[in-house]
Amino acid sequence: MIHVLTPDIYNRIAAGEVVDRPYSVVKELTENAIDAGATEIRIEIEEGGKKRIRVTDNGCGIEKSDLTAAFLPHATSKLSSAEDLAAIATLGFRGEAIASIASVSETEIVSKTAEGEAWSLASKGGKMGEISPAGGAKGTCVTVDSLFFNTPARLKFLKSDASEEGDVTNMVARFILSRPEISFTYLVNGKVRYRSFGDGLKSAIAVVYGADVLDKCIEIDADKHGIVLRGFIGNRNFYKPNRSYQSLFVNGRYVVNQTVALAVANAYKNYLMTRQYPFYVLFLDLPTEIVDVNVHPNKADVRFADNRIIYGSVYSVVSSVLDGSAGALEYVVGSVPRAELKSTFPQNVPEKEERPAPDRQFESPTPKRQFEGAVPAAQMTYAEAKKELQFDISPIGKPSYIPYREPSPAVLEVRSPAAENDFFEENRRALLEKAGAKQQKIDPAALEFKGELFRTYLIYEGGDAAYLVDQHAAHERILYDRLRRKCETRTVLSQPMLLPFLLHTNGQEFAFLTKNLEILRSFGFEIEEFGSDSFKVSAVPVDLFGMDLERFFGEVLASMDTLRAIKLADLLKDRLATMACKAAVKGGEKLTDGEVKELLKEMDGDMGIKCPHGRPACVKIEKSELEKLFKRIV
Ligand code: ADP
Ligand code: MG
Repeated sequence: MIHVLTPDIYNRIAAGEVVDRPYSVVKELTENAIDAGATEIRIEIEEGGKKRIRVTDNGCGIEKSDLTAAFLPHATSKLSSAEDLAAIATLGFRGEAIASIASVSETEIVSKTAEGEAWSLASKGGKMGEISPAGGAKGTCVTVDSLFFNTPARLKFLKSDASEEGDVTNMVARFILSRPEISFTYLVNGKVRYRSFGDGLKSAIAVVYGADVLDKCIEIDADKHGIVLRGFIGNRNFYKPNRSYQSLFVNGRYVVNQTVALAVANAYKNYLMTRQYPFYVLFLDLPTEIVDVNVHPNKADVRFADNRIIYGSVYSVVSSVLDGSAGALEYVVGSVPRAELKSTFPQNVPEKEERPAPDRQFESPTPKRQFEGAVPAAQMTYAEAKKELQFDISPIGKPSYIPYREPSPAVLEVRSPAAENDFFEENRRALLEKAGAKQQKIDPAALEFKGELFRTYLIYEGGDAAYLVDQHAAHERILYDRLRRKCETRTVLSQPMLLPFLLHTNGQEFAFLTKNLEILRSFGFEIEEFGSDSFKVSAVPVDLFGMDLERFFGEVLASMDTLRAIKLADLLKDRLATMACKAAVKGGEKLTDGEVKELLKEMDGDMGIKCPHGRPACVKIEKSELEKLFKRIV
């Protein structure tokens, strides 16, 4: 029975606008279908959801006598007393969604209960029509057409179709993961984008991320005093370029929660570097009394009675699994029975961790790295940890603020405040300024080559000084500049590949690349959409030929969220040049005399040059400094 909430209950609900974008409509309608006990849910969108959103389910349906009430504000069947608020078991409870969706669109509900007939009721901008007989199987079908047709301001606020579609897709992916027992079909403009079969979490993960991801994950199931943490976490070598591959479900509800995100991030801290993000699909099941779901309706978050307990439990489970400590045996779901593992430990380490991942994506060459100066995560209190890693994430998983860390030079440019202008120029200038007084140009003809040290440093004498040139750094810089110039003048040649490279993306990444295909093409990529979530790259800029494209695109996508301020073209120039020169120069190779001369000529006497990462390529040693060392002078 649907009834209108009395003000005393209603006033206790954190309420507000629930519909501001197509993905929020999809979220509300799908949650209703789940709450109705559906085992099959079909989600369709057209034109990013702006033209049409339709969610069909085989759930309990709505009685004819309740149809009108479903459209009323504060009308719900899920909550009747204030006490109910303390133990909410459904996803919805505010009774606001249908009313607010209907007020800004053309909405139609067709529904049939097990016993009753099918009835339909439509509304245009909140004005309801008549209930009329309809056809259809048990369940409910809600169609939302022309979203925001009567609120031009909100319509204008919407992003491009591709962008809205990307956000809906990510939302749907979360539903598929959160309810592996439900079979979902998701169609975009009439084409199937996802289909899950309701046959378990592994299968759901395979649908969303591809089956190979499972090989790189560890399945866990831990019970810490009634706090259950289960799901899949990426192994120590598996990471992603952004946070959009992290899903947390608290009591079946998708949330973006700082406490848990922080606990997981800190557990991975020793294995991942800056801008490498763990992959996880985690379920946190808690007694309803210690979690409050009645937070801001537009924020996918919950409040815990005690953040420290949650932080501690999650951190200890995830870190002991990653660190392979004895406790982990209790938590890892593996082929070896737990009792057996326990008795043979420590010789027997969880099977999945030991096995080297066959084709590691975005693999870190040096997986272990302690952040200098940072307190080891294990000793960190919750408050310290929170200070250390501040961020906020929107309900669809996009960080709205990226934690500031001491950037590596390659990142420096991306974070530069001058990003809107030519931040590369800015950066170059800053580097030059930093080099300051040391920066100097000398006549190359006045330099005499005196040999090399450690197959790395070339020695030159010029006037009253010696110059040590790091041949690799210098070579890199020169190449980098040359490549950037090439990119600027768009003279990059494209080289077809024998085997096209397939790039798999998630919803947001797909939308981002789709929007930027032309820019990529202008740089020499031959790239096109391939299927519903991939791209086919069949030619690459010559300088990238044979390179790790997975890594290249990983780096580009990693900057997706910061790109607003920077133009993709600039980012590409930088990434292309950086990658190309990395490949071009290898340490430990002896240069020929000719190459040495060439290098010097290219440096054009600029002894203050730095490699693209900001390391100096040349060190000047005054004769007087040597004399001091030998105590010839004091
Ligand atoms: P809430 O979900 O917070 O109760 P909604 O506005 O989303 O509020 O929905 C209002 C009511 O309409 C629900 O409480 C439920 O009784 C009914 N309803 C909506 N969608 C469905 C559905 N797909 N199947 C069955 N009942 C539904
Ligand atoms: Mg609802």
